[in-house]
Amino acid sequence: MTQGLSDNLAKAESIALPNMAVVDGELRPALAGGTFDNISSRDGRLLAQVAAGEAADIDIAVAAARRAFADGRWRNLAPKAKKKILHKLADLMESHAEELALLESLDTGKPIRDAQAVDIPLATDSVRYYAEALDKVYGEVGPHHPGRLSYAVHEPLGVIGAIVPWNFPLHMAMWKVAPALAMGNSIVLKPAEQSPMTAIRVAELALEAGLPPGVFNVVPGLGETAGKALALHMDVDMIAFTGSGVVGRLLMQYSGQSNLKRVSLELGGKSPQIIFPDCPDIAGAARGAAWSIFYNQGQVCTAASRLLVHEDIRAEFMAEVVKVASRIEAGDPLDPATRFGAMVSAGQMETALRYIETAKAEGAELVLGGGRVREESGGYYVAPTIFDQVTPGATLAREEVFGPVLGVIGFSDEAEAYRIANDTVYGLAAGVWTADLDRAHRAVRALHAGQVWVNGWDADDITMPFGGFKQSGFGRDRSLHAMEKYADLKAVSFTIRGGVA
Ligand code: NAD
Repeated sequence: MTQGLSDNLAKAESIALPNMAVVDGELRPALAGGTFDNISSRDGRLLAQVAAGEAADIDIAVAAARRAFADGRWRNLAPKAKKKILHKLADLMESHAEELALLESLDTGKPIRDAQAVDIPLATDSVRYYAEALDKVYGEVGPHHPGRLSYAVHEPLGVIGAIVPWNFPLHMAMWKVAPALAMGNSIVLKPAEQSPMTAIRVAELALEAGLPPGVFNVVPGLGETAGKALALHMDVDMIAFTGSGVVGRLLMQYSGQSNLKRVSLELGGKSPQIIFPDCPDIAGAARGAAWSIFYNQGQVCTAASRLLVHEDIRAEFMAEVVKVASRIEAGDPLDPATRFGAMVSAGQMETALRYIETAKAEGAELVLGGGRVREESGGYYVAPTIFDQVTPGATLAREEVFGPVLGVIGFSDEAEAYRIANDTVYGLAAGVWTADLDRAHRAVRALHAGQVWVNGWDADDITMPFGGFKQSGFGRDRSLHAMEKYADLKAVSFTIRGGVA
């Protein structure tokens, strides 16, 4: 055992594991006293029992959020004061980064080095970005009219319900919480039941930063109880969601069944990455192809799960991809050297294993991995897996696995590549590798996806909008565009008596 691993194991034994709701500025158990088990995917052991919020808990959290909104304790602060509190929250997230990263790794099974280098810093970036933006975004004044002064102003919606998944628990939460707060709203956040800890801890830090009680509430609980109650609530103005299409559909129904609350959906993907024969950097593209599906154990909504390779370079390129991928070995998430950890739950692992069996049965050629590993740990590890000779109609080419399983499809000409790439109900991301500038521009126009990356993968940050086309959802996280989502636009007109002199 390395020194780094034994240090992290010792810290994991002594760290306090957040397990309560944060409502109206207080840590609370569930009203009915219920809990759910938070299982460690690293070794299958029970981490903690967490307050299982139900409809009654959602009711008190929404009521607290509404009171906080109505009395203006946050909304009516001067922009400078709001900004100071959000920066203070970002400072606290930075000074607690080690603790937060450990909680995130324990909760999800992701490598601690990723939690330290990616999840927590990016979540903190979101808070800083919207802290800075909130006093720099202006409204509009209408064209000059002699008898009128017209302007358009963004007003906060009120109470935002945020429902987030477990793959990047804090990062996804802060994509929603930070712009919603920056616009002056109150929030009730329901984290995924697999990964509630960092959201609870950050809600506590927000209180320490000076965010008034009731503005940012966290109610852990199951999707079908706490999540559903939040989405059906008559006093919630919007649900901001990241998760599966199945639940996205339900949320739109819940909106229709209740108060027509706004819904924004960031859903899944089956993103294509296209390698043309003039790819300028075969080794770089091979690393990109491998890590864009194996990062976070494949549990990434933008994972490039379909690799489209031109037949002229297919053998050479696949040899490179397999070379990179065969060095990616599952390890203990708490070991600082581990780059590929556990899947989030037994259920998610079983889903990935089922898709592997289906791909075999449908005749795809297994070239790497193909099964569970590190079983003796008690955790949920699946080897990086590559299937070649996948047909565009195969299950592996059409359904999102949300696990470390890559399907490789060959193509012979440009038009065919775009046809295969777009032949999906999803439209979250797409990538293209080529040295031909004209072809790159043609690809950008041809590909139906919310983000298109040329000669790189997932190359953006908080400054650029993020979201899907087609069944990958609608509404954008990140960038200044995200702020508009949490506001209504009010048009105001003053009639100037006497006209202009
Ligand atoms: P999920 O949809 O099952 O769960 C997401 C959240 O919804 C959880 O908090 C869950 O408790 C809640 N939920 C479940 N049932 C609910 C209900 N009936 N009412 C209200 N809330 C309910 O998804 P998941 O398994 O946690 O995450 C995986 C999915 O999320 C994948 O499809 C993935 O592509 C998608 N995802 C998308 C993005 C993106 O930004 N587009 C990012 C991460 C994950």
